[in-house]
Amino acid sequence: RREAAVEEPDSPPESPGGSAGGPYRVVLAGESGVGKTALAGIFGGLPDGAPREDEHPGESMQLWCADGGFWGHLSPQGEVGDWLQESCLQTGDAFLLIFSVTDRRSFSRIPQTLLRLREGSPHPDPPVILVGNKSDLARSREVSLEEGRSLAVMLSCKHIETSAALHHNTRELFEGAVRQIRLRRRRPAG
Ligand code: GDP
Repeated sequence: RREAAVEEPDSPPESPGGSAGGPYRVVLAGESGVGKTALAGIFGGLPDGAPREDEHPGESMQLWCADGGFWGHLSPQGEVGDWLQESCLQTGDAFLLIFSVTDRRSFSRIPQTLLRLREGSPHPDPPVILVGNKSDLARSREVSLEEGRSLAVMLSCKHIETSAALHHNTRELFEGAVRQIRLRRRRPAG
């Protein structure tokens, strides 16, 4: 079991001094093969879905991966998967909903994943970014930039296209996630 890894309480992150500092817990969710591990790896590596604290320009981040439409199989045993699905929802400060622009199926699963996320999250409106990864694979593209954008408008979330292979827009993605978390923390909920 990896329970020790989440021993920190999911206490309210706001500190009375008004500091909106890290660590920022960012969950990467999406179908298998869309590039979650590759994206997370750019910021320090992520073995077997385990949380890993990373130095990000000026702040620390923890990156988590959730596979198979968020609640699926992270391990064949199921145990880690169950533990992870619960802890992802409870502790995620921001969620990156990742699909591959070369895999329409991964795109079509996004609305359902977001619905589950919003239903299960303890926060009323958790920061979510829709991420179209593998933008470098132009010739096998199945989902256009415009489709990604309009889905994001429909789902009321941000949108960005990235290439983990070329490190294109990856810094912008993680900085965008941190920015959204900071905005939420400054703004009282309700
Ligand atoms: P995960 O299952 O979501 O964690 O997906 P992975 O990170 O394991 O990526 C699946 C495959 O896609 C691997 O072979 C990666 O090297 C490849 N991959 C991931 N991101 C990109 C990308 O942006 N461009 C290209 N060309 N390949 C990518």
